[in-house]
Amino acid sequence: MTPRTGRHFLQIPGPTNVPDRVLRAMSAPTMDHRGPEFSALTHRLLDGLGPVFGTTGPVVIYPASGTGAWEAALVNTLSPGDRVLSFETGHFSALWREMAGSLGLETATDFVPGDWRHGADPGVLAERLTADKQHAIKAVCVVHNETSTGVASRIPEIRRAMDEAGHPALLLVDTISSLGSIDYRHDEWGVDVTVAGSQKGLMLPPGLSFNAVSDKALAASRTARLPKVFWDWKPVIEANRQGSFPYTPATNLLYGLEEALGMLREEGLPQVFARHARHAAATRAAVRGWGLEVLCLDEREHSGSLTAVLMPDGHDADKLRKIILERFDMSLGAGLGKLSGRVFRIGHLGQIGDLTLAGTLAGVQMGLELAGVPVGTGGLGAALDTLRAE
Ligand SMILES: *Cc1c(COP(=O)(O)O)cnc(C)c1O
Repeated sequence: MTPRTGRHFLQIPGPTNVPDRVLRAMSAPTMDHRGPEFSALTHRLLDGLGPVFGTTGPVVIYPASGTGAWEAALVNTLSPGDRVLSFETGHFSALWREMAGSLGLETATDFVPGDWRHGADPGVLAERLTADKQHAIKAVCVVHNETSTGVASRIPEIRRAMDEAGHPALLLVDTISSLGSIDYRHDEWGVDVTVAGSQKGLMLPPGLSFNAVSDKALAASRTARLPKVFWDWKPVIEANRQGSFPYTPATNLLYGLEEALGMLREEGLPQVFARHARHAAATRAAVRGWGLEVLCLDEREHSGSLTAVLMPDGHDADKLRKIILERFDMSLGAGLGKLSGRVFRIGHLGQIGDLTLAGTLAGVQMGLELAGVPVGTGGLGAALDTLRAE
């Protein structure tokens, strides 16, 4: 292998590059999690998280990866045998549905199949909910940004479909790879539980995850009967009022969270979203300049945080990723599930500037040529044109 010089390019759609500022903040000595300093930190964090989720309600922080927060959203709001409606948007929606099934929820009746190239369809949702006259469906699960496909579902339209059907199901949304990179508003969009994680748009290492909780979800949690102990919202929300947690929190990750929230505040959330959208547009320009196909098929649903690229027939995406890693020390996302070997994913979320993106796309372009994939060389130039124009 070529000796490595310069920085590793971690251009997978999470975990993302952790800014030096955040790493430094995390290197502070661990403090007493029952002391006054920690209590003040908890209050600052909970105040700072609200605007990022777009909520004035509680946000529960877990020392867990995003998968834990998926489970928390389900076990706090639902009871054994409850019917849950879900959409096959990609790998992560499939995993969340599988988890719901393992927990004893009914996931077969209300499954909406998909082609992994479109988001959740509000029209189909309206039909399914209107047909459910008995209101047997208790929750609708949607992955906002499908990290396996680079397709972002239209959550406000999903909400509208539920309202127009007059259906009382809870709306549970996974924003693990969109929070802090794609516009999202928990309260305004009427979401009941928002699931998020630390290692993607929030620019932290893996290890923290979140549930933002609506009043309706809190009310549901009082009668929900799925077993819950560690994931129970109630003791966390109660302890948080005193600035503490019912168990040892991930102290140093929380230092990092405070720094990351500060960075998002300094840049301004609208600017953060615009930056991601602009980098996503430049990446799509590159893909088209190479003569390749973006996996997402609906112009309204392109992800701001990653782009999944289809390989031409007969070319292996994993071979391309291996060449790019060995030659340029850059990691790109693999195709997941049924897309394995057929797509590669370019992560452009978190701490990214124009030159990070340009370097990333240069690496992809050189990699494609080295891998013998028949591509045009206009991709990088098209991306730079987009960056220059906007
Ligand atoms: C990364 C991701 C997950 C899984 O989160 P973990 O932190 O790996 O448990 C779930 N959903 C989406 C949309 C993701 O991007």
